[in-house]
Amino acid sequence: SRRIVIKIGTSSLILPNGKINLSNIDELAFVLSDLNNKGYEVILVTSGAVGVGLNVLGMDKRPADIATQQALASIGQVELMSLYTQMFRRYSQKVSQLLLTRDVTDFPTSRENAENALSALLSMNIIPIVNENDAIAVDEMDHQTKFGDNDKLGAIVAKLVDADLLIMLSDIDGLYDKNPTIYDDAQIFREIHEITDELREMAGGAGSRFGTGGMTSKLSAAQILFENRQEMVLTNGARIREIREIIAGKEIGTYFYR
Ligand code: ADP
Repeated sequence: SRRIVIKIGTSSLILPNGKINLSNIDELAFVLSDLNNKGYEVILVTSGAVGVGLNVLGMDKRPADIATQQALASIGQVELMSLYTQMFRRYSQKVSQLLLTRDVTDFPTSRENAENALSALLSMNIIPIVNENDAIAVDEMDHQTKFGDNDKLGAIVAKLVDADLLIMLSDIDGLYDKNPTIYDDAQIFREIHEITDELREMAGGAGSRFGTGGMTSKLSAAQILFENRQEMVLTNGARIREIREIIAGKEIGTYFYR
């Protein structure tokens, strides 16, 4: 059976006005449950705890204070899981939660524990929903506890379970030769086989309002997969329905493989 990891970014979960993107979450639940029914092993890596926390408290921007961000992640994570649980239940799909810290990359025992939990869940036909433990793993500079960003977490999880494919859902159709939200003549790359410095340059700086990764972090994720001879498709979170076609091999988004 094929193992698929799907990583969804905050920009696909939270609307620009700060409300929850219910149709995206519902579609995601539908498509992933359907895949699970058809025998695929599916793991969801989700961002969005802080974004949902802001929504719960009716705040409109991420506070500068780190402890407040931790609190928001802690508040938002429960609400996010509650949303997923409800949406997946509509399709009779059971889910579980795994909150990871960098322990799983730094300590072999922790890695083995995570691997064991994930494979037990998959063998029980449950879709594990993975996020970074953002209440504990603090800001981007904290290399002791933090993975870096959730794109990297997606790649680490894909590596952990030896996934056949990582599908990365962003707010953009794929990787372009320049930022398409700034330049209308930007051209999409259909395939990428190597992460070059030139490519990193094209990927530019950080992206959307809530997201923290930007294209640079998507390239770093692809690099981790390349080292492990794994594959990744970068596509738009507005195209969740096309996940089945992507798995079937249709050319959608940007396909990263060696
Ligand atoms: P998400 O939170 O969904 O993962 P990000 O905001 O982290 O999304 O990254 C996507 C954003 O990266 C795009 O909306 C775009 O503004 C920006 N970007 C910068 N350079 C590029 C590029 N070369 N190709 C595509 N997107 C780019």
